[in-house]
Amino acid sequence: MKRIYLDHASSMPIDPRVFEFAKPYLTKEFGNPSSLYSVGLEAKQAIEEARGKIANLINAENGKSIIFTSGATETNNLAIRGTALRNIRDGKEVVASAIEHISVLNPMKELQKNGFTFNIVPVDSNGMVDLDKLDNLLTKNTTVTSIMYANNEIGTIEPISEISKIVHEKGRYLHVDATAAAGRVPIDVQDEGIDLLTLSSNDMYGPRGAGALYVKPGIKIQSILPGGGQERGLRSGTENMFAITGMGEATQIAKKEMKEESTRLKKIRDKLIDEILKIDDAYLTGHPAKRLPHHASFRFSHIEGESILLNMDMYNIQVATGSACSHKTLEPSHVLLAIGLKHEEAHGSMVITLGRSNKMEQLSMIVKAVKDTVQRLRNLSPLAKEKER
Ligand code: PMP
Repeated sequence: MKRIYLDHASSMPIDPRVFEFAKPYLTKEFGNPSSLYSVGLEAKQAIEEARGKIANLINAENGKSIIFTSGATETNNLAIRGTALRNIRDGKEVVASAIEHISVLNPMKELQKNGFTFNIVPVDSNGMVDLDKLDNLLTKNTTVTSIMYANNEIGTIEPISEISKIVHEKGRYLHVDATAAAGRVPIDVQDEGIDLLTLSSNDMYGPRGAGALYVKPGIKIQSILPGGGQERGLRSGTENMFAITGMGEATQIAKKEMKEESTRLKKIRDKLIDEILKIDDAYLTGHPAKRLPHHASFRFSHIEGESILLNMDMYNIQVATGSACSHKTLEPSHVLLAIGLKHEEAHGSMVITLGRSNKMEQLSMIVKAVKDTVQRLRNLSPLAKEKER
């Protein structure tokens, strides 16, 4: 059976147009942007153009506010540690939502080990940040508050403009991890009051190995990777020209095609949700309406997510369960626990993230595979049998 790939949150193919655009930077255009001769200056120019394209996607003030990194994990680390450490005189408190990616939570835990106070804001059963609790947790000593634009596991989109107002009334800087949302829904850093924003190249059909941090002009952050002083001294290391120029091009394409593509995927997504919820004891996770247009996430009682994933793979359909990062431990996802699921409920999750290769014609095959998989696993499950008795 032909492959139906439904796990775009974990990896995407590079857009062939992006590949063609960036290919010369692997071969002919090999100059180092720090070199003063012509090949170097051309490379520098290409990086500045990529910065401009990224600034344009998120309506940043200018290209200078974009710092290139190696990906979303590094960007989140730079945003959180770089800002908290540079502004330590203003306070030693950081705040994050309970459903942040581990690359946000772990840098905050590191700060906590080094004497910072780290507070976690809870979310409701749909994954929406509790705004009153956020307000209560913030103090004038809170330098960094990190709330994601949308969650990668449950698709919920957070009310960033409202959150920004609350953060700026008491605390200082709002960092937003937009890895899952960028290129899917419009983002406007100025209008929404975002101080620091994380972007990832591969999550927009760009090459792996590039990410970007938007830093609002005037905000001071410090490097977490000292060296030759590239990227305004904030991220040293010779630039990854292929990944950076590719990310710029991918961003430009995403901006141009986002509206049409998101509308197309939302139609497939809505039908998929309708059909899958017809299965007994199947539930949607995340917000039913305020969710990413390409995102459908579920839980099924009495069966295990890992078994769902492996069974679906036998139909050559790739889905995810919980977060890719927690697979190694087999612990239930911290996101599903944060929305109030019990351990055994959180284990039966399936996450579908649609992308450009998905078509409405695939719907019946996907739905049939999910139904057969759930039925087969429940036939084997002692818990499901017990329920029948
Ligand atoms: N933040 C979010 C919301 C993510 O989904 C991911 C994983 N795709 C990351 C950060 C980390 O991305 P990466 O592993 O590419 O650094």
